Amino acid sequence: MTQSFHPPQRTLMGPGPSDVSPRVLGALGRPTIGHLDPLFIELMDDIKRLLQYAFKTGNELTIPLSAPGSAGMEAAFVNLVSPGDTVIVCQNGVFGGRMKENVERCGATAVMVQDRWGDPVDPIKVEAAFSAHPEANLLAFVHSETSTGVRSDAATLCGIAKAHDALVVLDTVTTLAGIDLQVDNWGADAVYSGTQKCLSCVPGLSPMTFSPAAVDRIQNRKGRVQSWFLDMQLVMGYWGGSSKRAYHHTAPVNALYALHEALVILEEEGLETSFARHHENHLDLVTGLEAMGLEMAVDPAWRLPQLNAVRIPEGVDDAAVRHRLLQEFNLEIGAGLGDLAGKQWRIGLMGHASNSVNVQRCLTALRSVLGR
Ligand SMILES: *Cc1c(COP(=O)(O)O)cnc(C)c1O
Repeated sequence: MTQSFHPPQRTLMGPGPSDVSPRVLGALGRPTIGHLDPLFIELMDDIKRLLQYAFKTGNELTIPLSAPGSAGMEAAFVNLVSPGDTVIVCQNGVFGGRMKENVERCGATAVMVQDRWGDPVDPIKVEAAFSAHPEANLLAFVHSETSTGVRSDAATLCGIAKAHDALVVLDTVTTLAGIDLQVDNWGADAVYSGTQKCLSCVPGLSPMTFSPAAVDRIQNRKGRVQSWFLDMQLVMGYWGGSSKRAYHHTAPVNALYALHEALVILEEEGLETSFARHHENHLDLVTGLEAMGLEMAVDPAWRLPQLNAVRIPEGVDDAAVRHRLLQEFNLEIGAGLGDLAGKQWRIGLMGHASNSVNVQRCLTALRSVLGR
């Protein structure tokens, strides 16, 4: 007979998923109720309100999409982009490349703004792209590039888009609850995140928010959205305001209990306190790594506290080190992606996993493995 699956207790310090708090895992196991049960509707309203808090937005259309962050990305593009549109897409890591794929699959043209992997998006290049393509009606970029550990200046980039009457698609999968995110103040229009990074919830949901201007563009589309499941006009009917909720799909009831609990924990701690905790643990990790002679890969001004890119020293076997960390210390850290494979490690300090015990555990384990 096949046995039940019992995973080991790992410490997750990679690019996600991050450690899920016992409170969130506990919520996941509560009794399933119907997804149109009046009590479930109350839970949905709580989740909307808590997500508005986390995103710093008053947007009415603020919901968790029943699919992972990648689906949040796709939902932003399929709803806002029509065939023949021109979209300016910034790429300074893996995820900007996926945005290009999405734009092209919508039948639109992606004008690429390329920056070196490890640098932030350059606002001067974005301004130049708008000057060269006045027809562009959308700007897309990643706030926290998880593949490189780099933050970009979202306020400035959103400002450029506004000045050119373009909407903004903003990836905040690794940002949410880890570093400051001001959806309304910055003027971002379609913003998606994920549950398994700094929210420390189980993977598989994508919190999203759409500005009134984004909703307006969606409602005035000429053609239908190519994806039935991700069509926000239909999703809105299910998550919609006070009106009757129409069945669209069966909500992932227990996963939403988990998200609710993760957001309750965030509200209890307070957003700004959560940011400060991520920042302090990051500084402690950097101090420890540098004391071991390791070098950080990103300029201090643009480092993500929740995702620390570290240069792998000359002559060190990347895969062997990560294998030993996992086998001997039950500790997962991330490998480099793309051109950075074999050159960098990515050490996550996300959400529940951003604590001083994990910082010390990681430093001790690395010291032990590298010392051999
Ligand atoms: C993890 C991540 C995604 C994808 O999220 P999934 O939940 O894995 O689909 C998208 N963008 C960024 C920046 C990410 O870090």
